[in-house]
Amino acid sequence: MSGEKKTTGVAVIGGGPGGYPAAFLASDLGMDVTLIDMEPNPGGVCLYRGCIPSKALLHVARVIAEARHASRWGVEFPEPTVDIDRLREWKNSVVRKLTGGLGQLTKKRGINYIQGRASFLSPNTLRIEKDGGEELLLGFSHAVIATGSRPALLPDISINSPRIMDSTDALELPDIPRTMLVVGGGYIGLELGSVYATLGTRVTVVEMTSGLMPGVDRDLVSVLSRRLERLFDGIVLNTKVVDMREEREGIKVRFEGASKEERVFDRVLISVGRVPNSTNLGLEGLGIRVDKKGFIIVDEKRRTNIPNIYAIGDVAGEPMLAHKATHEGRTVAEAIAGRKVAFEPRAIPSVVFTDPEIAWCGLTETEAREKKIPVKVARFPWSASGRATTLDRNDGVTKLILEPETNRVLGVGIVGIGAGELISEGALAIEMAALASDLELTVHPHPTLSETIMEAAEVALGTSTHLLYGTGKSK
Ligand code: FAD
Ligand code: NAD
Repeated sequence: MSGEKKTTGVAVIGGGPGGYPAAFLASDLGMDVTLIDMEPNPGGVCLYRGCIPSKALLHVARVIAEARHASRWGVEFPEPTVDIDRLREWKNSVVRKLTGGLGQLTKKRGINYIQGRASFLSPNTLRIEKDGGEELLLGFSHAVIATGSRPALLPDISINSPRIMDSTDALELPDIPRTMLVVGGGYIGLELGSVYATLGTRVTVVEMTSGLMPGVDRDLVSVLSRRLERLFDGIVLNTKVVDMREEREGIKVRFEGASKEERVFDRVLISVGRVPNSTNLGLEGLGIRVDKKGFIIVDEKRRTNIPNIYAIGDVAGEPMLAHKATHEGRTVAEAIAGRKVAFEPRAIPSVVFTDPEIAWCGLTETEAREKKIPVKVARFPWSASGRATTLDRNDGVTKLILEPETNRVLGVGIVGIGAGELISEGALAIEMAALASDLELTVHPHPTLSETIMEAAEVALGTSTHLLYGTGKSK
């Protein structure tokens, strides 16, 4: 241990999209703040090895796909040649730019940034191990745990090979393998599987449940599945990987379930979920409560059972999404400042950034069915959207999930290109307790995909300009 003990008002552990917004707002509200992370700059998983690098690569995939698609309109581009080193460098430059920018914002706010690993010694003291073995003690009045999550491993399979990757490895873009098995048909499997498949890898996805993106409404997923069936070499459902062995020609994988095959792949991407980083933090010593999955248990202010210690983001429960972490982070800063706040969103949007994208918020049809909540559903197919037609992308649906008596918007689901940009209107509608008539009466610009939200509201009210639903003339 070196030097005397330093003290701070608020110690934020973890500089991801939960931690850094908490630190920034706490500082803006006049508190003395220390932000601790192992990386040289804030950013967390999201900026270094998650949202940002994956979206940069998905953008490239989208450009390639669009160029191929253009042959339908009489515009021919030659097949692209991919310089993987330059592509990787471009993706890395995006990460450097954004994390460097956060470093500047941290400095300019006067926040004390410590690069190191923190753990609790007491409810008022942290031990921080810096690179090179130096240790320091930091006393605090309030602490915010924002340590995020890490990739889950496949249970019962322990094999160490550079050919077996998690999302962090896959985002490093080591090469464009000839074949790849993606284990898990969730967010990461479909996003990164799409990137590699578009770059030329023959991708097979194996998913243990009966469909891709389990839990998401099937009418939305089916639109994406149709396109992915063409992009991927294979989608194997109701099947688990039970064994993996390294052989000279690749990783030999044994399936169990609907498929019982043994196949060899150049690389395997494991994307079967993420687990919270709640161990090795000294939580047990303090008696901070965690649930069965390891998520820290928090109240509506994101306070743990120790009153001056808060937890936010992936480590504090699902959904494990960056914008959920950020909102929690800002709530916590206000709570510490003594403001009367609670984290109680009615809608946290989710977006799968595939092509097409799927986005949803609020109540889903699946959830309504499971919880026996009566709902009315209004769908507007993008085959009737002028904008979708100009883009030659009629493969989309916008739907509203409404309270039957009042037509209040309870949920919104969209599949189609740009769905992730459109969903915010749905989130706002839910937060503002909007009715279908509010969406119908709001003038939307033409021709845009946003009109599909207005027209879905028209469907709900019985007369849609571009559909014959509700007029009695649809048959
Ligand atoms: P994290 O971002 O995980 O940050 C935690 C930080 O804490 C890390 O920097 C870590 O180094 C640090 N840390 C951990 N332990 C300690 C310690 N003891 N001491 C000091 N520092 C510590 N979400 C979206 O909303 N949109 C997306 O498009 C999206 N894409 C994703 C793509 C991929 C491939 C992955 C893996 C995730 C993606 N996510 C996405 C999820 C998103 O990254 C997480 O929900 C988000 O990063 C959680 O933020 P956080 O602040 O809770 O933690
Ligand atoms: P996920 O939970 O989205 O998907 C995991 C999938 O793996 C599920 O479909 C599950 O049924 C399947 N699975 C689990 N065990 C399996 C097994 N043994 N064999 C075959 N299939 C198996 O998890 P993920 O894709 O790893 O992503 C982790 C989290 O990161 C997401 O839940 C999300 O919170 C976040 N994320 C978000 C985005 C985004 O917002 N666009 C992108 C990437 C990641």
